[in-house]
Amino acid sequence: MNQEVNLPFQGVELFVKREDDIHPFVSGNKYRKLKYNIQEALHKKYTTLLTFGGAYSNHIAAVASAGKMSGLNTIGIIRGDELEKQIPNNATLQFAQNQGMQFKFVSRTDYRDKTSQAFIDNLVKEFGAFYLVPEGGTNPLAVKGCEEILNGDDSHFDYICSAVGTGGTISGIINSAFSHQKVLGFPALKGDFLKEDIIKFATKSNWELISEYHFGGYAKINEELITFINSFKSKTGIPLDPIYTGKMMFGIVDLIKTGYFPKGSKILAIHTGGLQGITGMNVALKRKKLPLIEID
Ligand SMILES: *Cc1c(COP(=O)(O)O)cnc(C)c1O
Repeated sequence: MNQEVNLPFQGVELFVKREDDIHPFVSGNKYRKLKYNIQEALHKKYTTLLTFGGAYSNHIAAVASAGKMSGLNTIGIIRGDELEKQIPNNATLQFAQNQGMQFKFVSRTDYRDKTSQAFIDNLVKEFGAFYLVPEGGTNPLAVKGCEEILNGDDSHFDYICSAVGTGGTISGIINSAFSHQKVLGFPALKGDFLKEDIIKFATKSNWELISEYHFGGYAKINEELITFINSFKSKTGIPLDPIYTGKMMFGIVDLIKTGYFPKGSKILAIHTGGLQGITGMNVALKRKKLPLIEID
């Protein structure tokens, strides 16, 4: 569903595609990214999904839940061996465990090695055969799923905006966008490597990355962003997550204010979900004595 954002914008229209409403646990783009991967795993008669993620990972939560619904075992290789003792204080990991996910905690150093053949071979020795879903879930089948985010009713928008993590979601959006539309990506992390990753999957060139709104890097947030997220929710009724959609929306509103979009532009922002991560982020914010993100 596309929901209009009723804020006093001068001369542009902004709508939000509420992909966060797709499913209560497998929200937004993670549902899209897993759909064809799970079909493939079942088709190839795998009984187990294995994937990777960090402490608050939306992807870990989604794989745990989607695996359970599909009758597949799930294994999560988790970044940070200190987290093993903190499951009860970590809403994401606790949720994933309740869905039946089995964890293996690895040090940050070992985690860096996770795509090497030796690392994978050791996992096969330990767990037996599994269908491997990469960190963040991006692969060709994930991009195929994300091509279903836009539909024919969205053709009148001039701009399509999406948060960017690994680039799989925006690649799907680019592939299904019309050539008269411009796709804007808002990276949630620093670094130029994303462009190369998107080029690998994207079939068109009507897109651009807006790299000024990462707030210092992945999962880094400050008081200004928290205030924005809380005020956006109270004014529009739309909750945003602090890691992806909050930064994207902050960027869109800032670009509107500074006249980036020509008068009359119709903008569609994709709400990619991620709201499950707020509880975990609030624990960290409380520790840092920062204001909390409001939840219903
Ligand atoms: C994972 C995630 C993204 C990033 O998606 P990529 O396909 O990795 O670019 C964006 N928004 C939310 C809410 C996410 O959970």
